[in-house]
Amino acid sequence: MKERESGIVPVEDALEMILIFDESGSISYANHAAEKKLEYEGDLCGRRISDVFPNTFRPAEAGFETDYAYGSEINNLVAYRKNLTCFPVEARIVGSKELPGTYICMANDILEKQFLNKEIEQVKQEAQQAMKVKSEFVANVTHELRTPVNGILGNVRELYSDGLDKQLLKSLKLIERCCGDMNKIINNILDFSKLEAGKFTLEPRKFHFRNMLDYVKENHINKLTEKGLGFFMTASPQIPEYIIGDELRIVQILGNLISNAQKFTSVGKITVEAVRTARVNDKIELFFMVKDTGIGIDEADKEKLFQSFSQVDASISRKYGGTGLGLNICKQLVELMGGRIEAESEKNKGSTFSFSIWVGLCEEDENTPAQPEGMEAPLFTSAVEEDSVEDIRQYGTPENFKSLKNSLSKLILCVEMENWEKAEMFMDTVRELTSGAPREVGRVVLRLKMAIQKEKYDKITTEFAELNRILKEQGG
Ligand code: ADP
Repeated sequence: MKERESGIVPVEDALEMILIFDESGSISYANHAAEKKLEYEGDLCGRRISDVFPNTFRPAEAGFETDYAYGSEINNLVAYRKNLTCFPVEARIVGSKELPGTYICMANDILEKQFLNKEIEQVKQEAQQAMKVKSEFVANVTHELRTPVNGILGNVRELYSDGLDKQLLKSLKLIERCCGDMNKIINNILDFSKLEAGKFTLEPRKFHFRNMLDYVKENHINKLTEKGLGFFMTASPQIPEYIIGDELRIVQILGNLISNAQKFTSVGKITVEAVRTARVNDKIELFFMVKDTGIGIDEADKEKLFQSFSQVDASISRKYGGTGLGLNICKQLVELMGGRIEAESEKNKGSTFSFSIWVGLCEEDENTPAQPEGMEAPLFTSAVEEDSVEDIRQYGTPENFKSLKNSLSKLILCVEMENWEKAEMFMDTVRELTSGAPREVGRVVLRLKMAIQKEKYDKITTEFAELNRILKEQGG
């Protein structure tokens, strides 16, 4: 049993036929496989090797005659069963070092091997075909889904007009948002199925690197500032003005990482950095980092991050939504661009997602960096002051109270506008900012959170006033 566990199979149980014979050609040992395949009933020992391989070991007075060159080479021989039917084998016959005049023969049934190989090949082909059909089906269905979703979206937009009833306006906005979310999911599934089926091709072309980063910033800045998060973006001057790459897909990777950073951060800032790390001929390697000061990821969960359909914490994911495909798509895209993606994180401190990609240089500005050598050029620094995240998180500091006041006023504004989802988002920030507060604060915060979840306006205003009173008492 121990031998099996260590991967070494006893000779007797080997799948290979093993025979030992002497100079006279007499077989002194045959393992189980040899007995079975040659169809003897435990009476192979004592027979002659020329009974098994009559074409190779011809019977002779001294035992046998052979031209066989003993050694480690594998030869094709014909083995005869007891009933004189035969089959081809691959055999290796060596002379024993310990016992001169003794030979060991190891043989495998080629027909069986060929049959198994054929079966394996067939199963492989069937699996590939099934995978192809599945991918095509997913791609078709998701593509088809786009039409009705865009149909709904178009019609909803037509319905907007001046003087719309408040409730109706709210419903239309909700439908519009749902359609937007659905489109994002459809696009993710489409990308994923194309990548899985190996049908994804990059479309590299020349583009303005800093304009691309500017576009990424424009896509996210509103949501980030609305949430009260700082946003900082820097690009190394060594990155040329124009590069050749799939701009759309680079935007997609950065966008995904920034959206995640924003999704999982309530307090602090998001920083994006881009540097040039290497050059080989007309290609350069770019390295990007997206850093946040959010909830972080457990060491044990880090492995799951880049797997498809994987979300680290089901309860968190339910709250923030998502398909668990984003990071897997990022990984596959980064790898298509010749790079790697990695995550560093500390629970409750923040995460850093970094990735490298190879892009092409444009001939005309191969040697001209976008800006003179020197310090990294900040591309964007958000209007939010860069207070220390530690200070903001530390309950009772002026930075903490400032941030709390800010989030609370946004929270009550969202309640007034009945935007419950955003109200919950600011409630999360308030909870995080009061996590080290005395218990009486914690209790009111919890009551306020419950009231928001239940959308109870009166209860919210009471708890809100109570929280403001206590905070004022404590110096806020
Ligand atoms: P989803 O679309 O569901 O967000 P992703 O593949 O983008 O899927 O992310 C998978 C999971 O990784 C998320 O559900 C979350 O648990 C975790 N995650 C990703 N980015 C961050 C981050 N910046 N901070 C904390 N957790 C993160």
